[in-house]
Amino acid sequence: MSESRLAQKKAVVTSGTGGIWTVRDESGETHEASLRGRLKLPKNSPLKLAVGDDVMIDRDPGGNHWAISEILKRRSQLARRSPSGAYGERIIAANVDQVVLVFAAAKPEPHLRMMDRFLVIAEANEIEPRIVINKVELVGEGTAQEMFAPYAAAGYPIHFTSVKQSLGLTELHDQLVGRTSVLTGPSGVGKSSLMNAMYPGLNLRVGEISESVNKGRHTTVGALLHPLPDGGYVVDTPGLREVGMWELSPEDLAHCFREFREFAGECKFGDCSHRTEPGCALREAVRSHAITQARYESYLGLRDEMEGEKKPQAPSTKPRRR
Ligand code: GDP
Ligand code: ZN
Repeated sequence: MSESRLAQKKAVVTSGTGGIWTVRDESGETHEASLRGRLKLPKNSPLKLAVGDDVMIDRDPGGNHWAISEILKRRSQLARRSPSGAYGERIIAANVDQVVLVFAAAKPEPHLRMMDRFLVIAEANEIEPRIVINKVELVGEGTAQEMFAPYAAAGYPIHFTSVKQSLGLTELHDQLVGRTSVLTGPSGVGKSSLMNAMYPGLNLRVGEISESVNKGRHTTVGALLHPLPDGGYVVDTPGLREVGMWELSPEDLAHCFREFREFAGECKFGDCSHRTEPGCALREAVRSHAITQARYESYLGLRDEMEGEKKPQAPSTKPRRR
C-alpha cells in the first residue's frame, strides 16, 4: 500500500459550498479539504458534494493539504430547486436522519399550517419527521397533548418539553444521539434553549448563523453541521421553507399527510384531487372526523400553492407538420 493510501481517512463534510470544504474525521479532528480533480466516483455515488456527505480524504503526496478522493453513497438528502433556474436541484444537506420540528405550546402560538408544511417537506424528502412542543408548562401537559393529538394519532413521534421545568429533555436527547438531525421551527420557540439545556456548554445558537450571515449577502449560504458531544450532528440550514416540495407532484401530496394515506386510495376516481369530486373517501373521513378539518385545509392550501406554481408550457418551437 502506498503512503497516501495509508493516510486515507473517512470523514464527514461539515461546511462549505464548493472550493474548500471543512471535514471532520472519525477521531473528531477537522481539516480543510478540496475536491480532488480526478475524483473516484463509485456506482451510486452522488455527483456533487454536500454538507453531511461521508467522504474519504487523504493527504496530497508530499503536501500537508487534505483532498477529498471519494464521496460515499448517500442515505438521504434534503434538496431544493436550483436558484439559477427551473432545472436541476441543489442539495442542502446529505445523510439527514430526521427533521426535528420545534414549536411552542404558546408564546408564540403554534402555527399549525407551518407545521404541516414542514411535515410535508420531510415526507417528500423521505426523511423522518419528529415533532417537539416546547414551553408546555405554559398551558399544561394535558392541554398540550390534546392540542396535538391528531399528530400523535397520525403516527408522528412527538415530544412535550419545557426547558423551564426540565421536562422531556432526556427523552429528546436520546433521539438525537448518533443521528444527523435538522432542527427547525419558528424563532422564539426555544430551539437554542433546548439545545443548550440538553448539551450544556455547547452554546449553540440555532438559526443565528443562517440569519446573521444571510443578511448582508444575497448568495445562499449552505448548511452547517454541528457535531454533538455524544455522537450525531445537528444541521443548521437556512431556508428550509423553500425546500423539497417542488419535486413533489400534486397527486402525491395527500401521501405526505400520514393519516390521509389509508383513505386517499379509496376514492371513486383514481386521480381524485380530494377537493370536489364525488365519492371522495378523504372528504368522507373529514366529515366523520377521522381526519381533522385543520389538516384537510392545510392540504388544500398546499395543493393550491403547488398547482399555482406550475408555469404555462413554453410555445412549441417545432415546425408544424404539414
Ligand atoms: P429560538 O429562537 O427558537 O432559538 O428560541 P430561544 O431558545 O432563543 O428562546 C426564546 C425564548 O423562549 C427565550 O426567552 C427563552 O428563555 C424562552 N424559553 C425557552 N424555552 C422555554 C420554556 O420551556 N418555557 C418558557 N416559558 N420559555 C422558554
Ligand atoms: Zn378523494
